[in-house]
Formats: sequence, C-alpha cells, structure tokens
Amino acid sequence: MLTANYHTHTKRCGHAVGEDEDYVLEALGAGYHDLGFSDHAMLPNFSEPFVRGDFSLFQGYVDSINALKEKYKERITIYVGLEAEAFPCYYSFYKEMLGNGVLDYLILGNHCAMNDDHKIYTRFSQITSPSQLYLYKDLAIGALSSGLFSIFAHPDYFMSSIENFDSDCKKVSREIIQASIAYDIPLEVNVAGIRNGKKQIGRTSRWIYPTDEFFTMAGKMKAKCVFGMDAHAPNQLYNETAIYEAVKFAQEHNLIMLDALAKIKQH
Ligand SMILES: [Zn+2]
Ligand SMILES: [Zn+2]
Repeated sequence: MLTANYHTHTKRCGHAVGEDEDYVLEALGAGYHDLGFSDHAMLPNFSEPFVRGDFSLFQGYVDSINALKEKYKERITIYVGLEAEAFPCYYSFYKEMLGNGVLDYLILGNHCAMNDDHKIYTRFSQITSPSQLYLYKDLAIGALSSGLFSIFAHPDYFMSSIENFDSDCKKVSREIIQASIAYDIPLEVNVAGIRNGKKQIGRTSRWIYPTDEFFTMAGKMKAKCVFGMDAHAPNQLYNETAIYEAVKFAQEHNLIMLDALAKIKQH
C-alpha cells in the first residue's frame, strides 16, 4: 500500500548499513514505485563523523545512486537527495546542487543549529529552554520558506526530550504547520520513530516521534503529510509492524497522506 519513500540513508553516514543496491532491491520487493535516497548531508568544510559522511564521499554517493537510477529505470523511479539541516550558511551550496541537477531534492531534518563559523551550538534532540524551542521553529520556517526543501522530516523532532506539550510547544507547532501549508511542503510521519519503539521521556513512555499532539493539530489544520521510512538498513524499507502502526497513527489523527510527491520533479 505504500508506494513511495523519500527518506533513505546509506552506509556513508556512519550509522547505516547495507549496499546502495540492496536498498533498491528491497524497495522493488516491497512494491515501491518511487525511492528517494536522502543520506545525511555531506557538507564541504564540515566534518561530523558517525552523523554524516565526509564531503569526500559526496560525489561517489551521487554517482552510485545515478547508476542505480539508470540500471533500474524500467522498474522504479530513483531520486538522489539529501537530508539536510536548516544551516543558512549552506543554503548557497544546497541551491547550487539543486540548480545544477546534481541533486533532485532535499528533505529538511532540523536536528541542530549551526553558526556562521560552522559550529553546532544547539541540538534539538535536547531542548531545555523555550529559546531553543523558538530557534527550532524559526530555523524550520526559514527553511520551509526557502524553496529548497521538498519534505519536512520528523517535524516534531523538538519533542524528542520534552515531556509535556505545553503552550510554547503548541504555538511552535501551529506556526510550523501553518508554514508547511503555506509553502506546500508535506510533514513527514517518521516511521523510524515508530520502529524504534517507545522511550521513557520523563514519566511518559511514548515514541520520540511522531507525537500525538503535533499530528492531532496537523490533522485538524489539514496539512499534507507523507510517510518516511528513515531507513538505515535495507530491510527497514519494509517493516510490516512499523508500517501497520504508522498507517493506524495516520488514520487516528485524520492525516491527509500523500502517496507520492509531485514537487520533486520540479527541480
Ligand atoms: Zn541517521
Ligand atoms: Zn533521516
């Protein structure tokens, strides 16, 4: 029933396994007609071992996915992209790679904030103050308005370490969902968060994401959504239990789920 996935990693990031072609073979077996590779962005002049591949691996990544694109073109449409952060100092790089056709698309993974000296100064998996929460929101909305991104991956990532969805969380969520509607960028229901099982956050046991409160709001506001496998191993492209839970989650929250993306083809 799922026929497209645009959130696929490769071993280059240092925390995923399998050969690129194995992901394609798994996708074929699962009946996908669209497979987008979106490994963690390899960035010039920035190194983050085990989080993202070194920039020296970037060209090989693009070449490998393009070769698979060609090899399997009769059976599946493959895209080459990146999961990239809202790092304004890299927007010109993103723009260039999309503009010259090296990349087909980007998904926004708003994991952390970077200053102009290429230093990470906040990780949004560990938000401890409202100012960090509002920074998450401002960077996200800036990215959504930039025209560079096609999907917002795990948009409720800010809830990773926050136990209670308080009034600040509500405000931030509403503004993010409004921006996703205004710029027509779907919100991802991240299947990895489901696959990884419930975690203890304060006294609450829940998936880190997707979160009930955020997606209840997204459903009410009629935002468009898309499933993202966030696969870090080939067999994670089709994990029946997690997909069952994800579909149930989408139904329970009245989400408008897109099958495939039209927007990727515009770049
Ligand atoms: Zn990853
Ligand atoms: Zn990811």
